[in-house]
Amino acid sequence: MAVDCMYREQAGLANRIHLNLFNALHPDGQRLVRGWFEKAHAAMTADDECFEAFIFAWFAVNGWAAYVTCKDRDADYIRALQRSTELAEKFQTLLAGNPQFQSAASDFQRFWPIFKAQDIRRAGHRSPAAADRPDVVQHYFDCDLRVFEPQCWKSHKDAGEEVSLDWPHTLAAIYRVRCNLFHGEKSAHSEMDREIVRTALVVLVMFFRLGELL
Ligand SMILES: [Zn+2]
Repeated sequence: MAVDCMYREQAGLANRIHLNLFNALHPDGQRLVRGWFEKAHAAMTADDECFEAFIFAWFAVNGWAAYVTCKDRDADYIRALQRSTELAEKFQTLLAGNPQFQSAASDFQRFWPIFKAQDIRRAGHRSPAAADRPDVVQHYFDCDLRVFEPQCWKSHKDAGEEVSLDWPHTLAAIYRVRCNLFHGEKSAHSEMDREIVRTALVVLVMFFRLGELL
């Protein structure tokens, strides 16, 4: 059975973005973006600062991405980044060659799929904080929550295959964390778990730093 995975078909020149464009940005613009990124990098390992650090990391990635993709809308630049052959290859190279990055990426993947926090709150579907992640995920599926990332996660599982730990799937999940965080969920529940935010932050920051993007 063919799995409905939107990330399967990507290759070729059409998917090139110009990562070097960022270096041509006006020095003041670069300084701003790099400054946000440094704040995120410095706070990455401080347990009580991960929400703020994630927000700074996202400011930086957002500014960088709008510039290298020449697209302003989130959905457009996210898709362009996901389709970038160069970023996908960088991610695979780091996974294969850097055990710390491999472990950070796997730590975040253990929380997939990431559900939409507002759906959980509205429907009052919170599950016990102490539950294991697979039980929480099953609980949300039983409650018929349908917005989650990567959105192909369930198709992969239903087909009996693992969801690829790669750049497009990872970015999809990170972006869901970003939306949950930016939409101002104040109460603590599973999709805003500190651990989810922290592991997403570490992958994002490590990728941009080790991949020499920022
Ligand atoms: Zn997929």
